[in-house]
Amino acid sequence: MLVVLSIAGFDPSGGAGVLADIKTFAALGCFGAAAITSLTSQNTTAVYAAYHQPPEVLRAQLEPLMSDFDIAAVKTGMLPTRASIEIVATTIERHQLTNVVVDPVIRSTSGYDLIDDGAAAFLAERLLPLADLMTPNMAEAAWLTRMKVEDLDGMQQAARQLYEQCQAVRLKPTARCAVLITGGHLADEAADVLYDGSETRIFRAPKILTRNTHGTGCTLSSAMAALLAQGCDTPEAVRRAKDYVVAALRTAPNIGHGAGPLNHSVMSDE
Ligand code: PLP
Repeated sequence: MLVVLSIAGFDPSGGAGVLADIKTFAALGCFGAAAITSLTSQNTTAVYAAYHQPPEVLRAQLEPLMSDFDIAAVKTGMLPTRASIEIVATTIERHQLTNVVVDPVIRSTSGYDLIDDGAAAFLAERLLPLADLMTPNMAEAAWLTRMKVEDLDGMQQAARQLYEQCQAVRLKPTARCAVLITGGHLADEAADVLYDGSETRIFRAPKILTRNTHGTGCTLSSAMAALLAQGCDTPEAVRRAKDYVVAALRTAPNIGHGAGPLNHSVMSDE
């Protein structure tokens, strides 16, 4: 079985972070492993606090996995400090990890900052150039490119710009640096834009009107990691990951008093 690793935050409510990630890996037929960067206090209504793990604790979680497993893909989510970003970047370089999916998590939908001041810029220069795929949402893409990203046109321009920014750094010649900007916050459709250095592709889906959207970004990026691990090319992985997320949104368990979680156990043809 293919092992896929999530390096991300812990959301005790199970909707986002490593719990969402490993449920997604399992639903898509992979074996999930996880290293925790921050223990958060949250539920479906708000994030209350985040207790970032010291660098040595993150390193101590990763090293035994690296010496034991062949990692077929890695997904990074909440990396709240410069130190955690540096450890992840060094791990990717030292162990030549492939199928690296970076979800540049900056702020929760409820408005809680999930990364320290200054660390987001470091993430952009140190980790994004090591990614085979990055999956910012529109707000994250705007932050990372300093561009306006408010519609499909803006998403396409930002995807190209982000790709060029990463290619210019060239920390790892084999990194593909494809950019998938997710458009769940577009007004009337849920269109995602993929730019891989040669072609821009738009993946459209009807917008699902639901309050149960907590962890949608975590879930999509994890689905991408699992599908890339299985050998899908990037466009095929986007199509299948999107189908999975749509099915998980449609069958959401409808729990909690705020933005509820998705149904990660859904089969993508349900
Ligand atoms: N908690 C953790 C640990 C996360 O990684 C994320 C997003 O990536 C969130 C919370 C926020 O999720 P959402 O914005 O979907 O509420």
